[in-house]
Amino acid sequence: MTGRDAQPPVIELRQAALTYPGPAPVRALLPCDLTIQRGEFITVVGPSGAGKSTLLNVLGLLDSPTEGVYLLDGMDVGGLRDAERTALRGQRIGFVFQSFHLMPHRSALENVALALAYRGIPRRERMSRARQALDRVGLAHRLHAMPTKLSGGECQRVAIARASVGSPSLLLCDEPTGNLDTSTADSILCLLDELHRTGMTIVVITHDPVVAEHGERTVTVRDGAMSESVRV
Ligand code: ADP
Repeated sequence: MTGRDAQPPVIELRQAALTYPGPAPVRALLPCDLTIQRGEFITVVGPSGAGKSTLLNVLGLLDSPTEGVYLLDGMDVGGLRDAERTALRGQRIGFVFQSFHLMPHRSALENVALALAYRGIPRRERMSRARQALDRVGLAHRLHAMPTKLSGGECQRVAIARASVGSPSLLLCDEPTGNLDTSTADSILCLLDELHRTGMTIVVITHDPVVAEHGERTVTVRDGAMSESVRV
């Protein structure tokens, strides 16, 4: 067995399910198994209300399954306290959202460097790593631009640099091209493909079949239940 084979999957859900409490509980995610190995590119599709966001919240440690087990990098995250969960999320998961969520009064460079702020990395190194991350997404020439001066595609590149600068175990993208025109969306998908080729593990949630095709595997969520198709 090689060192790579010996690594645990990035994601392992074992009969994980989530029911929202309430006067009328909602069974948003039915018991499901899902394994995502290091370096895989998975897309998640399904109609509105199917449970995609619930799955994203579970995978992203924003919510805990109410049944079953979730192992992240082989670690059972079920019993973690909120502070531990938040710390783990900051270290292991990079988020990319449809609406970018950049800090408007900080430059591209500062937005990316801030993602490393709570890791005890000296400022000089934070800046250097942020520069490298922005270079990787093709924005070496826009380091000091404010988000208001950047196009939608450039903002999403900054967001991807921010999400990936800390070398997370998982890049979790929620409709990453939802706010972009077709050609800009294509360039963002090419960028995700490039990151995938460097070995990054990527999960993209989308309702767009073109985006879904970029995954090696596609998980379909319907009425809280998951089914899978593998692309050949
Ligand atoms: P999708 O992202 O695929 O549109 P969601 O995961 O947002 O679907 O929702 C799945 C189901 O869970 C829906 O029936 C939705 O109404 C319900 N739901 C989502 N969030 C909550 C919540 N906080 N409390 C109760 N029900 C919720």
